[in-house]
Amino acid sequence: METILLLVHVEADGSLAKPALEALTAARTIRHQLSGSTLAVGLVGADAGAAASQIGSCGALRFLGVSGAEFREPRYASDAAAAEALVRAAGATLVLAPATSRWSRSLAGVTQRLNGRIDTHITGAAVIDGQLNVARWYYRQRMEALLQRAQRPWFVLLDVGCHEPWVGEAAAEAVESVSVEFPESLRRTKFVEFRVPQSGEQTIRPEADLLFVTGAGWTKKQPDGKTHVEEAAVLILDFLRKTQSSLGSSKSLVDLGGEGQAILPFLSHLNQVGQTGSTPRHPKGLATCCHGEEPHVVGWRFVTERRAVNLDPNCGWARGKADVLYVADAFEVMRKVNELLANAALR
Ligand SMILES: Cc1cc2nc3c(=O)[nH]c(=O)nc-3n(C[C@H](O)[C@H](O)[C@H](O)COP(=O)(O)OP(=O)(O)OC[C@H]3O[C@@H](n4cnc5c(N)ncnc54)[C@H](O)[C@@H]3O)c2cc1C
Repeated sequence: METILLLVHVEADGSLAKPALEALTAARTIRHQLSGSTLAVGLVGADAGAAASQIGSCGALRFLGVSGAEFREPRYASDAAAAEALVRAAGATLVLAPATSRWSRSLAGVTQRLNGRIDTHITGAAVIDGQLNVARWYYRQRMEALLQRAQRPWFVLLDVGCHEPWVGEAAAEAVESVSVEFPESLRRTKFVEFRVPQSGEQTIRPEADLLFVTGAGWTKKQPDGKTHVEEAAVLILDFLRKTQSSLGSSKSLVDLGGEGQAILPFLSHLNQVGQTGSTPRHPKGLATCCHGEEPHVVGWRFVTERRAVNLDPNCGWARGKADVLYVADAFEVMRKVNELLANAALR
C-alpha cells in the first residue's frame, strides 16, 4: 500500500503548467493500479490556492501546500526545504514529480536527507503482480528497462512529454498549509532571470507538431557541381516560419561551423538530435538531406511518425528507420512545399 505524493510547483501566474498536469495523469494511473494506495498533491509556490483549485476534481485525498514569496523562486535551498517538508507531512512512500529543472535539481538532495532512493528519466509505469515498475530507457534510448525498488521513500522523476496532461473541472479545494524552516542564511541565492541561448532566430520549439531535421546534404555539392547554402537557408527558414515547426539537425551539419565550412547560421549544437544530442518528442518528424545513420536516428525514438527526403534510395532511412522515404531532391521538394504553403495561406 503506497502513500503517493505528487510534487508540483506553481507558475508565476498561480497556475500549474503542462509538465505538472502530465505528472498528475501518471500519478492518478498509478494510484488506480495500486490497490489501497492514496494520492496527495504537494504544491510549492507563492500561493498554492489557485493551483489546488485548478486540479480540485482530480481525486486526490489531500492537497498540501508550501506557500510564500520565497517559494516562488526556482532555488535549490527553498525547493529542497519545501519538498522535504511536504514528503514528511504526507508520510509519502512514493514521491512523483515532473522532471522540470527545479525538481531535477533539488530532489536528489531531498532523497538523501530522507534516506530514500531516486530514479530519473522515467517514461512510464506499470503495476505487475501488485508491484510498481517504472520504465527507463538506457544507452541513449536503445534499451528499455522496468525497475522496482524496495526502499522507501522512492522518488520518481517523470520525463516531460510521456503522458497526456490531466484535464478536468476546477473545484475549490482547501489546502493544508505546511510550514517550512527556511533560515536567512539560505536566502542568499537569488533568482535573477532566465537566459536562453539564442542562435539568431528561435528555432527550437518543443511543443511543435513537426520536427524538421536538416542534414549535412544541404551544404554539399549538388548535381550541378556547386553548393547552394544560401538558398538552403532561405528554404529552411521559410518553411519554419510558415509551419512553426521545430528545427533539428544532424551532428555533421552543426559540426561544420567548427571545420570552417559554409554553414547555416541559425543552427547550433542545441539543435542536434541523436546519441550525443537531444531526443525530442514531436508527433511527426521530417528529415531532409540527412543520411539516417544510427547515432542520429536513435534520437528519433519518441518521434511517432517519421518521414525523410533523400536522393539516395539506400540511405539509412530506407532500412526501416522511416515510415516514408521520398527519394527526391530536398531543394526541389522544399521549394514546392513552401509554394503550396504560401498558396494555402492566401486562400
Ligand atoms: C559516438 C558518435 C556519436 C554521434 N552522435 C550523433 C548525434 O547525436 N547526432 C547525429 O546526427 N549524428 C551523430 N553521429 C554522427 C553520425 O554517425 C553521422 O555521421 C551523421 O548523423 C551524418 O550526418 P548527415 O546525415 O547530416 O550527413 P551525411 O552522412 O553527409 O549525409 C548527407 C545526406 O544528404 C543527402 N543529400 C545530399 N543532397 C541532397 C539533396 N539535394 N536532397 C536530398 N538529400 C540529399 C545525401 O544523399 C546523404 O545521405 C555520431 C557519431 C559517433 C561516432
